[in-house]
Amino acid sequence: MRIILFGPPGVGKGTQAKLLMEEFESVHISTGDLLRDAVKRQTPLGVKAKQYMESGNLVPDEVVIGLIEEVLDSERARNSFILDGFPRTVAQARALDQMFERMGITLDGVMSLRVDHDEVVRRLNNRRMCRTCGRIYSLDKLKGLDATQCRSCGGELYHRDDDKPETVKHRLEVYLKSTKPLKDFYRQTGRFVQIDGMQEIGYVHKMILDWVYRSRGPNAAS
Ligand code: AMP
Repeated sequence: MRIILFGPPGVGKGTQAKLLMEEFESVHISTGDLLRDAVKRQTPLGVKAKQYMESGNLVPDEVVIGLIEEVLDSERARNSFILDGFPRTVAQARALDQMFERMGITLDGVMSLRVDHDEVVRRLNNRRMCRTCGRIYSLDKLKGLDATQCRSCGGELYHRDDDKPETVKHRLEVYLKSTKPLKDFYRQTGRFVQIDGMQEIGYVHKMILDWVYRSRGPNAAS
């Protein structure tokens, strides 16, 4: 399975990608996670990306395109992947098309998740991430439970700086200006599907699976 999960910050791309990754044994390629890791390790790329990420701006196209190219260099990733948070500009989408052509990759589809603006702000304000493994939690689901430690690896849960309301407002503006226009780009491919991200996580997952199985037929589980 080779798909792109598309939508604004906080729509649930990361959560859905992790569920799909388990189901299909796909490689989850999140440019946000890759960049956060580079920032944490203070690599030259991380040092370059940090200021853009902190201010809620997009990291320059050539940087993220280079990152994706490196990841898709592995056969395992090329065979089955879920792209989460990439592409985010038309230039990135065009570069990705060229990469696919060069590597002989056919995309199964682009799944666009949609949620209301207020819900995005609420979700990001409630989102907590594990510093060690990147697992995502919502304070909604942690009511009365320990909201400081990751259930999977014991790492520390934190509220991302760019998930705080001041930066979220700017990230949403950036989404509207630079990323949303990609919908038209992908609509033309005939492999674009809109999914209601306001629904429960399990329901959204089921809708994605329905689409994958319907579009790929009996061989979808690969
Ligand atoms: P995310 O975890 O996907 O919300 O990404 C966090 C931040 O990483 C974004 O606000 C951007 O600063 C940066 N980033 C992630 N993916 C991209 C991308 N495809 N293009 C440019 N910047 C990105």
